[in-house]
Amino acid sequence: MTRYELFTAEHEAFRASVRAFVEREILPHTEEWETAGDFPRSVYERCGEMGLFGLKYPEEYGGSGPDVVADAVATEELAGCGSGGIAAGLGAHKDLGSYYVYRFGNDEQRKRWLVPSVRGEMIAALGVTEPHAGSDVAAIRTRATLDGDHYVLNGQKAFITNGSKADYVVVAARTGGEGYGGISLIVVEAGTPGFTTNRMKTVGWCTSHTAELFFEDCLVPATNLLGERDKGFVHIMQNFQWERLIMALGSVRGAERTLDLAMEYGKQRQAFGRPLAKFQVWKHRFADLATEIAAARALTYHALRKHCAGESALREVSMAKWLATELGWRVADEALQIHGGYGYMMEYPVQRAWRDARLGPIGGGTTEIMKEIIARTYGL
Ligand SMILES: Cc1cc2nc3c(=O)[nH]c(=O)nc-3n(C[C@H](O)[C@H](O)[C@H](O)COP(=O)(O)OP(=O)(O)OC[C@H]3O[C@@H](n4cnc5c(N)ncnc54)[C@H](O)[C@@H]3O)c2cc1C
Repeated sequence: MTRYELFTAEHEAFRASVRAFVEREILPHTEEWETAGDFPRSVYERCGEMGLFGLKYPEEYGGSGPDVVADAVATEELAGCGSGGIAAGLGAHKDLGSYYVYRFGNDEQRKRWLVPSVRGEMIAALGVTEPHAGSDVAAIRTRATLDGDHYVLNGQKAFITNGSKADYVVVAARTGGEGYGGISLIVVEAGTPGFTTNRMKTVGWCTSHTAELFFEDCLVPATNLLGERDKGFVHIMQNFQWERLIMALGSVRGAERTLDLAMEYGKQRQAFGRPLAKFQVWKHRFADLATEIAAARALTYHALRKHCAGESALREVSMAKWLATELGWRVADEALQIHGGYGYMMEYPVQRAWRDARLGPIGGGTTEIMKEIIARTYGL
């Protein structure tokens, strides 16, 4: 492999197998699951059987890796499933909750939570955001007070993907003073007394169980502390790189699929005696978007390459995240436009692409925050 190649022949074969799996076992059910606002737990189990949750981990934890590039391939292909909610539910499990257990947990914690997560038998979530603190992570207020061999949690989280169906949540809570320094990560299992959830109604990502979490004198064993006490903020920042990379990868793949939908519709729909896609304004618009998707993909792969090489990719990841997610939204908006009135009807899948893509520039660090970070890397 030359240093410019990211994917090997094995990766491409793996890509084909995941794409076939998505086409065979997810796409045919997307409409039904979206209407129900839910998708079955068996999808996690099937992904587990396919090995999609173990690519970043060695065999001792049930994985087949570590192969971060293969994991990126899985993310791209799952993002082609036609539902942002399904992709997000699987992604929050794979790349947030359970990845935190691997990255920051000890051997016992990995065996307890990671191994069943890799099999898709346990579902994971990450709870950082609070009703009053999203971009400003250091302002979180949920508190975990050590009392003997337990932490007592009090507080609230908001917008947590998988929140109301997860078997465990990696919760960011304040164990020390105010600001960056006093935050720790603590695993809270579903069913723990004092821990309740409330599913929120969302504009898009309608199958992904976005939820509020409530902790009221919730007693959690002190051994559920993940990583170093009071170093939770650093851990969150470490994983943000990966979270933003997978959002960029997923957005590029989603945009590509949405553009296909738009071009297909443009070829079928006739106006003024010819297909819409044959009018120059649409031909050029599609050409522009296809070019921008190729550029966003190249930037995202560049960031992935740097990340895999162990180099600092803060600037490139932040660039890729905002560019790819904003583009995903713009492509969805143009795709809806070419559908005319049908684009505004619920029976066409483009409406879902439009609603789902809107979250990209908000979740996992907003576009404004990405630009703040990029500016900072230039000393501004
Ligand atoms: C569907 C969904 C799923 C999510 N899943 C999860 C999850 O699984 N786990 C989790 O922990 N969180 C999750 N989130 C939360 C998400 O990461 C936050 O919504 C996001 O980080 C923004 O935070 P906020 O909503 O509090 O917005 P705010 O921080 O209040 O920002 C509001 C606006 O102000 C802008 N702004 C803020 N600060 C600045 C600044 N310094 N300069 C310029 N503009 C600024 C923002 O860009 C934004 O436009 C999810 C959110 C949604 C909607």
